[in-house]
Amino acid sequence: MAIQWFPGHMAKARRQVTEKLKLIDVVIELVDARVPQSSRNPMVDEITEGKPRLIVLNKADMADPVVTDAWLRALKRDDVEVVAVDAKHSKGLKQLMSGAEKLMQEKHDRMREKGRNPGPIRALIIGIPNVGKSTLINRLAGRNIAVTGDRPGVTKRQQWIKMKGGEMELLDTPGILWPKFEDQMVGYRLAATGAIKDDILNLDDIALYATRELSARYPEQLKERFKIDQLPEDAVELLELIGKKRGLVSGGYVDFEKASELLLNELRHEKIGRVSLETPADHDMA
Ligand code: GDP
Repeated sequence: MAIQWFPGHMAKARRQVTEKLKLIDVVIELVDARVPQSSRNPMVDEITEGKPRLIVLNKADMADPVVTDAWLRALKRDDVEVVAVDAKHSKGLKQLMSGAEKLMQEKHDRMREKGRNPGPIRALIIGIPNVGKSTLINRLAGRNIAVTGDRPGVTKRQQWIKMKGGEMELLDTPGILWPKFEDQMVGYRLAATGAIKDDILNLDDIALYATRELSARYPEQLKERFKIDQLPEDAVELLELIGKKRGLVSGGYVDFEKASELLLNELRHEKIGRVSLETPADHDMA
């Protein structure tokens, strides 16, 4: 989804989320497990105003499991539960439900003591574009629902979607927030994983960023995929070598643009294996 964020849009998105918070018990904050910090809204703590929050590391099937475990530990707080899921293949949905139940347990126990029935947990899914909000809503609902963001000028009645087990109800319209634009590294991480379009940043720069990161974090996977014995230290040389290995040469020169496209395509389609492009240690959170 291509969304251009302007200050007015940000204020509106924020208002829409704030209004919905009144209706719900738990915020489900969806992020991309490969880049959990870069794929979250920088103001989410403030926006969600201390509501119990379940952070969902989605697309865990594509992320490095060791790094995902480190994120699960690093993001945990008293009023924050963290789970890893693969919404596309409906994996981890039970843990997601138990995470939400854990957050509500004390409150629900108190209600039961007073003889009141707590009813289903009411939740709102929020996250930046492309983290998998629609996919998760459809999987939790067990059927395909036309998930749409809030559109200006269209007033739509809020609908509650009952989850398969009936323990939770979700608002049918997720809260769409914006990523942290001012940090260029965030832009590169989101572009490399395919969350933002290539035309926002220069394609060669995204590919060079990805080449550098992969050769630092996953040298063996890179060597194996492209049949390279020793990785050149220089990222330009390495990307050229990758292009050469795949025959992307014309007139004696490597076609740098094609090599860039190839590398990003392979990264985004898991051909280089499961990779994460940021760790808690990168953010002094380990
Ligand atoms: P939204 O913009 O947040 O609603 O994101 P979508 O639900 O449209 O998902 C964006 C893309 O990510 C789609 O191509 C989905 O198929 C894909 N996707 C969503 N969840 C997962 C997941 O857990 N694993 C993988 N591999 N892909 C996913």
